[in-house]
Amino acid sequence: MPHSAHPTARAWLDVDLAAVRHNAAVLRARAGVPLLVMVKADSYGIGAIAVCRALGVAFRDQPSRDDAPWGVGIASLDEAEALRDAGCRGRIVCLQPLLPTDLPRAASLEVTPSLHVGADVAAWRSLTMAPYHLSIDTGMARAGVRWDRVADLRDAVAAAPPEGVFTHFHSADESLPSRDEQDERFAASLATLADVLSPAVLRHSDNSGGIASRSHGSPGHLARPGIALYAGMFDQQLGLLPVVHLRARVIDLREVHPGESVSYGATWRAAGMRRIATLACGYADGYRRHLSNVGTVLINGTRCSVVGRVTMDMVMIDVTGVPCEIGQAATLIGRDGADLLTVGMVADAGGVSPYELLTGLAQRVPPVYHETLPVPVAFPT
Ligand SMILES: *Cc1c(COP(=O)(O)O)cnc(C)c1O
Repeated sequence: MPHSAHPTARAWLDVDLAAVRHNAAVLRARAGVPLLVMVKADSYGIGAIAVCRALGVAFRDQPSRDDAPWGVGIASLDEAEALRDAGCRGRIVCLQPLLPTDLPRAASLEVTPSLHVGADVAAWRSLTMAPYHLSIDTGMARAGVRWDRVADLRDAVAAAPPEGVFTHFHSADESLPSRDEQDERFAASLATLADVLSPAVLRHSDNSGGIASRSHGSPGHLARPGIALYAGMFDQQLGLLPVVHLRARVIDLREVHPGESVSYGATWRAAGMRRIATLACGYADGYRRHLSNVGTVLINGTRCSVVGRVTMDMVMIDVTGVPCEIGQAATLIGRDGADLLTVGMVADAGGVSPYELLTGLAQRVPPVYHETLPVPVAFPT
């Protein structure tokens, strides 16, 4: 993977769009159903427009590819508007509940909303004949009508049947019994509404964890992967390729004498003479402060330890005995040479969620998009 940001860039994110495509194909094959790919939060910080284009979603200047996802999922109408402004013509589904006052804007953006209140279903139908999806809560307790209250929606659904019906798992990747319980509640809700739903209604439930947890494909008609598409989880299990490679330049090099400390709070002290490099990347770039004294960074393919606290704009690493020059790029996440620091490995080291690590990267590091298919690298053990 080339390090090809502007020569003066202090830090940047190499984004491998061919890897996103590869991961989508792997997930599509495993799910066995078309994908509603989640591009909320700017594709988990990676860039929703670039991801949608790379996946072959229809844009004003780009016809839809044969293997394009069925649709893309977002969480706010601003996200939908940014995609539409960029020329996106593909199907956009908003999976987060909208306020009733947002429905006219959703209609004008041609966004498919998720609805779960009878009055909202009626309001939507009075605005437009465009589709909506019915959101059913089977245990996440965040959004949607409770599975044991779906009968309340019978009249509204009969008057305006949805295109799709979906639910969302809270622990599909951690607990199969909890997934199965939610599967059963979802099936019971669908049975309750069977006489008012079209037999062709699109059922969907699997997120990345759901897809990864099943070996015989996803139930229903669609699956909704997010984190796995960006190789933030399940990469080793499913053979997904790394998408993000966080680089930062070495901007300072120094000798630190035995007993001397590095960074705020003096939480690290040199046991002997050490050579310390300063990288132009800190927690304001998404390199989380949790990685203080526990993170690992690649310099010329060699693993070096983070020493002392991560600061807002810089982090220090121990490069004793490792060839290292001012201006060279270090890899804080991703591949360098034959080695690879996955999002999962870095998140684990800091004890943070891979979702938070990924979405946090968008703040200050500019993405640099690559279209070349990388040479797959074996996962380090
Ligand atoms: C975010 C989200 C997903 C994707 O979840 P991942 O765990 O990232 O795969 C799917 N469905 C809904 C409703 C979501 O909010």
